[in-house]
Amino acid sequence: MKILQDYTLDEIQQMILSLNEQKFRAKQIYDNINLGKSISSFSNISKELKEKLLAEFEDIPLKIYTEQHSHDGTIKFAYELSDKNIIEGVLMQYKYGNTLCVSTQVGCRMGCKFCASTLHGLTRNLTAGEILSQVLAVNARLGGKTGKHRKVTNVVLMGMGEPLDNYDNVVKFIRLVSAPESLNISPRNISISTCGLVPNIYKLAEEGLQVILTISLHAPNDTLRKTIMPIANSYSISEIIKAARYYFEKTGRRVVFEYALIDGVNNTKECAAELANLVKGFPTHINLIPLNEVTERDLKTVTHKQAENFKAMLEQRGVSVTIRRTMADDIDGACGQLRNSIIN
Ligand code: SAH
Repeated sequence: MKILQDYTLDEIQQMILSLNEQKFRAKQIYDNINLGKSISSFSNISKELKEKLLAEFEDIPLKIYTEQHSHDGTIKFAYELSDKNIIEGVLMQYKYGNTLCVSTQVGCRMGCKFCASTLHGLTRNLTAGEILSQVLAVNARLGGKTGKHRKVTNVVLMGMGEPLDNYDNVVKFIRLVSAPESLNISPRNISISTCGLVPNIYKLAEEGLQVILTISLHAPNDTLRKTIMPIANSYSISEIIKAARYYFEKTGRRVVFEYALIDGVNNTKECAAELANLVKGFPTHINLIPLNEVTERDLKTVTHKQAENFKAMLEQRGVSVTIRRTMADDIDGACGQLRNSIIN
């Protein structure tokens, strides 16, 4: 069944006219959707029109299924889709606002060795409206409304799935969530994280969106990268760096590299030197993430001290680098962990 959340305001207007309804109804429907409401709970729409809508559209595409609250204010959500698939997301509360991490696929087919999202492969892509519905559900849950009264202020596409493997829906999602009468979240406050699907990095650079591009590198050379990320067999690091430079030139936005620290695998002195060399000479930032250990995988994380040492080695070489605050380590924080604990 179709979902209204996939539609722009213009598209809802066309749909409403085709149902022989008055045009102003479209805006009422659109406003209700952006408040995270199900069709059956629209209060300013007649019973007849609701019935017409329900004959064609899902009542609501996604519901919050569980939520886990961490001691640091992070909330991990599992959502149930209308086909009963489970996806997940994390809300991180900062002083400047609330960032929601959203999923773009049910599962993932990228096969990274350290990641829980890919353990069961890819089930299906999410539609733009299903990605949007995660933001709408959490925003409503926090008591947020639309525009400047929203409670979710930033979005990162770092949940389950590979965003650039679901390109069209992801780009449409960015247009939907940034629409002024929806949540009006500027693309500048949205990060897309990718394991490095090079052709789609070039495509994204041409969209005229100012989104932050984050690339999951996790290794400073192709030989090592191939042992933990199968995508490295398709695209080399030098191709990725070239695409990242192009993205920066086109958008003016500094590219971020993610580097999960895995003890004894990618945290040596040599790795730090090689990594610094790769990003030399163009504006980037490196985010170090101490590996979130996943039960099904036998890779080990680093201590706080080891992470600090690695950071210092990069800083000595002039690299802009931070260690990502490990959040929510008391709940199922790593991608795919919460879903696995529900579906297993
Ligand atoms: N598929 C996209 C986005 C999803 S994951 C990507 O690859 O970028 C978001 C980030 O978390 C990625 O950098 C991913 O490599 C990383 N990640 C996945 N599992 C992790 C784990 N167990 N510990 C630390 N980081 C992990």
